[in-house]
Amino acid sequence: MTRTRTALIIGGGISGPTAAMALQKAGIEPVVFEARPDRADGVGAFLTLAPNGADALRAIDAEAVARAEGFPTPAITLRSSTGKHLGSGPTGLSEQPSRTLKRADLYRVLREEAANRGVPIEHGKRLVAAETTDDGVRAAFADGSEAVGDLLIGCDGVHSTLRRIIDPAAPAPAYAGLINTGGYASGVSVESEQGSYEMIFGRHAFFGYAVTPDGAVWWFANVPRRDEPERGELAAISEEQWRDRLTTLYRDDAGPAVSLIEATPHLSAVSPIHTMPRLSTWHAGRMIVIGDAAHAPSPTSGQGASLSIEDAVVLARCLRDLPDHEQAFARFESLRRPGSRRSSKPPPASTTARRPARSAAPCATPSCPWSSRPPPTAKP
Ligand SMILES: Cc1cc2nc3c(=O)[nH]c(=O)nc-3n(C[C@H](O)[C@H](O)[C@H](O)COP(=O)(O)OP(=O)(O)OC[C@H]3O[C@@H](n4cnc5c(N)ncnc54)[C@H](O)[C@@H]3O)c2cc1C
Repeated sequence: MTRTRTALIIGGGISGPTAAMALQKAGIEPVVFEARPDRADGVGAFLTLAPNGADALRAIDAEAVARAEGFPTPAITLRSSTGKHLGSGPTGLSEQPSRTLKRADLYRVLREEAANRGVPIEHGKRLVAAETTDDGVRAAFADGSEAVGDLLIGCDGVHSTLRRIIDPAAPAPAYAGLINTGGYASGVSVESEQGSYEMIFGRHAFFGYAVTPDGAVWWFANVPRRDEPERGELAAISEEQWRDRLTTLYRDDAGPAVSLIEATPHLSAVSPIHTMPRLSTWHAGRMIVIGDAAHAPSPTSGQGASLSIEDAVVLARCLRDLPDHEQAFARFESLRRPGSRRSSKPPPASTTARRPARSAAPCATPSCPWSSRPPPTAKP
């Protein structure tokens, strides 16, 4: 039995710091390596933290830091381009609705919380190569430095470098046929309840917004575009040109899209949306990818951040509860692959004696209390 003592985590976004905190609770020493220089991730977009993501953060006592940011968004209403009401519903349970936060704020608070717990976070460290050694892994960074550890965990997002190192034949991210932008408008009065998402299926493009407790309006636009933009192409278009394009796209739709776009001082960076095709494996030897690097869903699902947080907690539980990293990685992948989540239920008691390793069931549920461990009879 090889006990894991240290883990190198690539990526200080959402799953990276969360995995670091969870691994620390599992008795493993993590170090996070983030490509960007310190505080350089103020990307303007916002996202929703769904109840499953909040539950997983609570399991490692980190939910409060996320709850201190953003605002609750308990309801969602869908409308047509004419303003017709198409449907509405809650975004979660009434006592625990979804929360909307600036992406940069969620990054910041998770990173700060990890650092406060003593996790080393090194900025300006872009992974460029990695190899398995006789007794661990070695990671090489663009600045010429190296690091060694027992495991290498890729939390490096949809354009993951570690994914290609694990499987050079892994598919590239798939362009979803949409580009995205958004912003923060103030001084516009809109007809919707504070905290309720309004989603409008416009004639030419999709538009969504929510009113914050202080009356500002956070909005986003998903604009169809058939061909994938060339690198740098979207950034080369000026903000004024984007504003013109967007107001033209939405001017025939009911709703406040045009007023909101005009009242927004700065548009968020316009970016293409990608999802991840199915990978044949998420791990090889002592290396594994989690979060968007393994299974980025469409941003329209509102689940990418929450699934990444769940991954981080489940992986740490698997490493805590199973005898070695091979079994932990295999168990993690079987639990977390889209389509295999039904297997995340603990197996029936009658099967635990026959399949001791798989019966380490508490790692299956991201939200169960951290202290939950497999029953003594289930230990291999
Ligand atoms: C426009 C948009 C809207 C979205 N809306 C939502 C939403 O409403 N709800 C939701 O749940 N999710 C949403 N998402 C998805 C969500 O942002 C992601 O699913 C989530 O951030 C994934 O977390 P992660 O930790 O896997 O990757 P990321 O958060 O992308 O973090 C990856 C980190 O790795 C770093 N990195 C990359 N390569 C390297 C390298 N080689 N070496 C070192 N570091 C590296 C990056 O700089 C980054 O900090 C949205 C995404 C987009 C693009």
